[in-house]
Amino acid sequence: MMGAYMNIRDHDRKYDYLVVGAGMYGAAIARVLTDQGFRVLVVERKDHIGGAAFTHEEDGIMIYDYGAHIFHTSDERVWDFVRRFADFREYIHEPKAFYKGKLYSLPFNMNTFREMWGITAPQQAKEIIEKQIAASGFAAKEPSNLEEQAIRLVGTDVYEKLIKGYTEKQWGRPCSELPASIIRRIPVRYEYNNHYFDDKYQGLPADGYTAMVSRMLDGVDVMTGTDFLDPANRTELTPLANRIIYSGQIDAYYGYCYGPLEYRGLRFETLHVPEEECFAGGAYQEAAVVNYTDVEVPWTRITEHKLFAEERNVANVTGSIITREYSAKWHPGEDAFYPVADDENRTRYEKYRKLAEQEKEVLFGGRLGSYRYMDMDDVIAAALSDAGMMI
Ligand SMILES: Cc1cc2nc3c(=O)[nH]c(=O)nc-3n(C[C@H](O)[C@H](O)[C@H](O)COP(=O)(O)OP(=O)(O)OC[C@H]3O[C@@H](n4cnc5c(N)ncnc54)[C@H](O)[C@@H]3O)c2cc1C
Repeated sequence: MMGAYMNIRDHDRKYDYLVVGAGMYGAAIARVLTDQGFRVLVVERKDHIGGAAFTHEEDGIMIYDYGAHIFHTSDERVWDFVRRFADFREYIHEPKAFYKGKLYSLPFNMNTFREMWGITAPQQAKEIIEKQIAASGFAAKEPSNLEEQAIRLVGTDVYEKLIKGYTEKQWGRPCSELPASIIRRIPVRYEYNNHYFDDKYQGLPADGYTAMVSRMLDGVDVMTGTDFLDPANRTELTPLANRIIYSGQIDAYYGYCYGPLEYRGLRFETLHVPEEECFAGGAYQEAAVVNYTDVEVPWTRITEHKLFAEERNVANVTGSIITREYSAKWHPGEDAFYPVADDENRTRYEKYRKLAEQEKEVLFGGRLGSYRYMDMDDVIAAALSDAGMMI
């Protein structure tokens, strides 16, 4: 039963598994266990399912409430699994970057270099980048921060225009104070190819992620608006199942006993843009997602939702709906988005992980339970293999 609140006291059924969190991980593992004949109860703190991939429809436009989500995978098992719950239509992601009034192609490829330097041959781009790296003096030494690391990988122009401001907004700190380890490699393509992802399968569920997750949870008992960590809920819910699969924040599960793990937060501002502010063709911007890479613009990116639609322009809509995404300081209790994977947080997470390892009846999973950034296909792959281990 979806969306409705079941009264726990009236509910004397015993479950094999209690899954905490109705995001992609919780829904996928609940599905597999249910298919195996287990009785599963899913509890979700929010009043909706889908977690960070939640979508809803407005004026015929699919809105990505927590930022644009593009499904991409090369894992056949994951691709077969998700297509049980949604018709996927092909969508190739080609975002743009906007820096001081000019648009650049992403990811960094010959289109970007043509836009930046007016050159057309890959050799010319290689030479410019290599020259800038050599002039920086960072090539030969071990990078001591993100700035040095980025410049030694792509040179100064790409760094200054397309990486620096965006990264500083995203992490709320100067690149010279961020660890080099955040950027291990920066994909640079010396070919004309704007496809953001390389994966074999890429697309969007035709009727949105919420509908897809809802189908995954078909026949599973789901309680929304129920925070498992609320002491009264925890006391009542825990005895209902033999085992718990927990996809919330691992530090919260343990009452932050080693201190909170740090995240970056996001703030979303959704606006209806009147038709007169859209350019010819009815769109507000040139791509479904535009990253704003200068530090003066407060948002990190703008998503124009109708540009994900197959026809790009939805017939019954005048104007457009856009979401500005702002990176924000995060406080415990708020929605957690990007783990801050510096040494201090990694060490703290290790302590929580050791506690989790000792649990016999509780499995931690998903992006929050594992304290790491994971794409949707990663959490689904993890759910499929975790379910295999639980059985
Ligand atoms: C801005 C942004 C853009 C992204 N874009 C992409 C993309 O383009 N492609 C891609 O593949 N991936 C993308 N991702 C990653 C994607 O969001 C994750 O892979 C996916 O949402 C992880 O699913 P999950 O179930 O692990 O976590 P979540 O989606 O966070 O679900 C966890 C659920 O647990 C619930 N919960 C937590 N604590 C409790 C509690 N105590 N009691 C009850 N419920 C609780 C939460 O409310 C939440 O619904 C993006 C992520 C972000 C932040």
